[in-house]
Amino acid sequence: MCGIVAYVGRQNAMPILVEGLRRLEYRGYDSAGIAVHRAGGLAVFKAKGKVREMEARLPARLKGTVGIGHTRWATHGEPSDENAHPHTDSSERIAVVHNGIIENAGALRAKLEADGTEFTSETDTELLAHLIAAEKGDSLIDNVRSVLRRVSGAYGVAVLDGDHPEEIVVARNGSPVVIGIADKAFFAASDVAALVRHTQQVVYLDDGEIARLTKDGYEVTTLDAVPSEKTPSTIELDDMEFDKADFAHFMLKEIHEQPDAVARTLRGRLEPRFSTARLGGLNIEAKDLLRFKRIKMLGCGSAYIAGVLGAKMIERLARIPCDAEPAAEFRYRNPIIEQDTLYFAVSQSGETFDTLAAVEEVQRKGGTVLGIINSVGSTIARTCKGGVYLHAGPEVAVVSTKTFLCTLTVFALIGLYLGRMKDVSPAEGKRLLTALEALPEQMQQVLDREDEFAEVGRKYAHYDHAYFIGRNEGFAVAMEGALKLKEVSYIHAEAYPASELKHGPLALVTAQTPTIAIVPNDDLVEKNMATIEEIKARQGPVLAIAQGELPVEVEDLIVVPETHELLAPVLMLLPLQLIAYHAALARECDVDQPRNLAKSVTVE
Ligand code: GLU
Repeated sequence: MCGIVAYVGRQNAMPILVEGLRRLEYRGYDSAGIAVHRAGGLAVFKAKGKVREMEARLPARLKGTVGIGHTRWATHGEPSDENAHPHTDSSERIAVVHNGIIENAGALRAKLEADGTEFTSETDTELLAHLIAAEKGDSLIDNVRSVLRRVSGAYGVAVLDGDHPEEIVVARNGSPVVIGIADKAFFAASDVAALVRHTQQVVYLDDGEIARLTKDGYEVTTLDAVPSEKTPSTIELDDMEFDKADFAHFMLKEIHEQPDAVARTLRGRLEPRFSTARLGGLNIEAKDLLRFKRIKMLGCGSAYIAGVLGAKMIERLARIPCDAEPAAEFRYRNPIIEQDTLYFAVSQSGETFDTLAAVEEVQRKGGTVLGIINSVGSTIARTCKGGVYLHAGPEVAVVSTKTFLCTLTVFALIGLYLGRMKDVSPAEGKRLLTALEALPEQMQQVLDREDEFAEVGRKYAHYDHAYFIGRNEGFAVAMEGALKLKEVSYIHAEAYPASELKHGPLALVTAQTPTIAIVPNDDLVEKNMATIEEIKARQGPVLAIAQGELPVEVEDLIVVPETHELLAPVLMLLPLQLIAYHAALARECDVDQPRNLAKSVTVE
């Protein structure tokens, strides 16, 4: 969430910064701003709202080859022009952009105010500008270091100093910062999306590191001024992946990319000879994996729900008790970490603050945690001992679609791998493996029916409330379906286990409250039919997502192909994603950047 971009080189900084901020827009934000060194001092422009609103305030020409930019996602003070970054000290010599939260800002600010410093914003960030300006060291990096040693909390920062117009200082603690290396130019950003257009050579800062960038080079040290050895790595991202191509929205593009994304997740990971999966990055030997007696999935939002489904899949295949828990709930209940529990941390970005904190809690207590991550080289990926990358490609829309289904695919692979070490027979393993191989093609067949789902989406768009129900895996599908609908269309949607309906929610079922029933072709079909009858008896419209005709008549029926029973959720989620998308379009919602939401939640 929130974004930083910085540039030092020989070209005009302003257009590069604005373009970089555009690349970060997908993350969700509420205001934007830039600061550039120009003759005579710093020029700062910022505005509440979209990058284009800030851009409208920029002069036609602004000469300067060193600058920083920011998209803010408010934590301290409402979205406003004043609270937008960059923030400066009173003399406007220092400019700071910051992602994250300074936890001891209140006390430090009170002290400065008592000494007469006037603040112009409510943010925790402005404090940094005043503190850095008050430092008396010779170099900017020393001054920033000295201040950062006094603050606690999470930050990624970029700083300009009018007295040192040739350089930028960036630092990281808990909020990502990556340096981009180009020809006679250096970039820094919170997300590679902002720099892939210019370079694929990058250096990731670690927590507690600080760097000074000039057009001639960069140097990385720790906050204690110890030099850090950094080796640049090459990112395998293509600028095109951050382009909407012919699609109206990134969400739609990413929904349609899913067959390819899942094929990439599977590539090289199926082992037909032994009817199992091959997972090179787990870094745990088979004999050590077998000693785990339980598995727990940790994640936030969709990643948590993917964990719920993953737990069910793995439990069925490997016959190991598995469950999932929201990462923040877990970390704040002083969890008991047992040596024979294996933890999986699920995160698209690999930067989700609460998930990272949960990982650190597990590790601090001696537990084993593996990452299921999309973003290669991200903080959680690096913190975990091993894991499985999704290889879904960048996901730009705020709501997750392809990374959700790729995560399910990874869990199927893990379940197959563990299951085949235990009771799953070669024949049974082969059935799943064959179904996995056929999955991308089947997904494509479902996606080709977009028009059918679009019509349903438009039809349901006028309701204000909806229930999603299902049993077991179907309930987890219902959770994700409800989350998608509420995130993008703002329709109030709630998921319930179908069995729970008559224990409460049925009271709210009327002709105005549709129910979306997830009805896989399993041994609970009859139970689901009984529930649907109960809803119909209260005039509730029912949309069923099923794998064949149903014995009970429903208002709308969407039939997806048969597959292995553990993969049914993948196919059933496709229509739900497209229904949410088209309902959101009908309600004129900002599909790619839903209100109040951010792509990767790097604050608590
Ligand atoms: N805490 C800072 C603020 O509220 C930074 C928020 C962000 O990460 O964008 O301005």
